[in-house]
Amino acid sequence: MSWDFETEPEFQKQLDWIEQFVREEVEPLDYVLGNPYDVRDPKRNVLVRPLQAEVKKRKLWACHLEPELGGQGYGQLKLALMNEILGRSRFAPIVFGCQAPDSGNAEILAKYGTPEQKKRFLQPLLDNEIVSAFSMTEPHGGADPKVFTTHAEMHGDNWVINGEKWFSSNANFASFLIVIAVTDPDAPPYQRQSAFLVPSDTPGVNLVRSVKVGVGETEGTHGYVRYQDAQVPKDHLLGQRGGGFEVAQTRLGGGRIHHAMRTIGQVRRAFDMICERVLSRTTQGSLLADKQMVQEKIADSWIELESFRLLVLRTAWRIDKYKDYRKVRKDISAVKALMPKVFHEVISRAIQLHGSLGVSDEMPFVEQLLESFVMGIADGPTEVHKVTLARQILRDYKGTTDLFPSRHVPKLREAAEKKYAGRI
Ligand SMILES: Cc1cc2nc3c(=O)[nH]c(=O)nc-3n(C[C@H](O)[C@H](O)[C@H](O)COP(=O)(O)OP(=O)(O)OC[C@H]3O[C@@H](n4cnc5c(N)ncnc54)[C@H](O)[C@@H]3O)c2cc1C
Repeated sequence: MSWDFETEPEFQKQLDWIEQFVREEVEPLDYVLGNPYDVRDPKRNVLVRPLQAEVKKRKLWACHLEPELGGQGYGQLKLALMNEILGRSRFAPIVFGCQAPDSGNAEILAKYGTPEQKKRFLQPLLDNEIVSAFSMTEPHGGADPKVFTTHAEMHGDNWVINGEKWFSSNANFASFLIVIAVTDPDAPPYQRQSAFLVPSDTPGVNLVRSVKVGVGETEGTHGYVRYQDAQVPKDHLLGQRGGGFEVAQTRLGGGRIHHAMRTIGQVRRAFDMICERVLSRTTQGSLLADKQMVQEKIADSWIELESFRLLVLRTAWRIDKYKDYRKVRKDISAVKALMPKVFHEVISRAIQLHGSLGVSDEMPFVEQLLESFVMGIADGPTEVHKVTLARQILRDYKGTTDLFPSRHVPKLREAAEKKYAGRI
């Protein structure tokens, strides 16, 4: 038997340290600093740099990366247990060196960059001296990469990029962007695009504007970027020509369920707040906690959170076990489809149970509610994950050519009567 739902004591000690450190040293940053990615903000650096040094000293920096890149090579299960703590704070991923999209972009540069590019961009990225952006989605379509039109053409020794990209997160802070552009329009759909390393100061990389999500943000961070004859040398092609999707997959590699891991942390924090509130607030002569409709909300939230957590941990375990994306595609799609739903449900109950306070800007719930929608879009729409999941599931089934289903009771009864003929 190998089912085990316990954490090794040694690793649990690490988690206990992370839990306390995040609660006491990192969460407070969320209330006094601006954007975690703004590496040019001196106030941010004064507070964040010493915490990053502490994390490095504890050997917890960039744990998703292999040791040769300064990480710990943690498998997904360990990362899941760690990330569910980091998910509680906006600044925690930056303090622990595992923030998206830099984590994936570093993996791309490590795999495909030249020694010169690694020196100029990878090392400073790994040290969080700079940040980066991933520039793939276009204004006229995100969920279907086959419609992208931004293109790159060879002129002499340079690639010249033209087109528009949309929602390139952190483009306003980034020192470079990884841009996906069509290089081979006549190739089969998934071999038409290539990936490029594009330094942000390249002439022709124009930030039209930085788009805000919702109404709470003070500044936008999602770049609407126009590439107008932006030229990069030919060695800035990352991977093979036409291999853009393969390169993008590298980026998604380990990070496929990190959002889900962090979402557990956010949902748990909201759940803790619900429990505290219902045990503190009295109405109509009794605590909220004593009312059955409130109890139902507590029970439903706990069930949804714990079953989601188990699905995430099991998926992480399967990723580590098989190390083969094809074997875990179904599990990953299920996690991604369930993530926004659980987030949305629990946050909605948190808002309801906190009443007027719940909808106010004095609690984090309204922002989190919006975040629950983001979770169902940013990593690919929920609908697409469900389609993938259903297709993967149905591969293991076969239809029947019979008029009635194979479990049709009259047929089964007839077979059973034949089997026991003469004995009953
Ligand atoms: C906060 C945030 C950060 C992001 N960061 C980045 C980034 O850094 N870099 C980057 O390149 N992109 C980024 N994106 C873009 C993201 O990848 C796209 O938003 C996503 O792929 C969906 O594309 P779209 O927004 O164009 O929606 P569309 O493709 O227009 O889809 C809109 C809706 O149509 C429905 N739909 C779509 N396809 C199907 C289908 N097959 N079946 C049924 N219904 C469907 C879904 O309801 C979907 O939400 C980010 C998005 C957000 C919200």
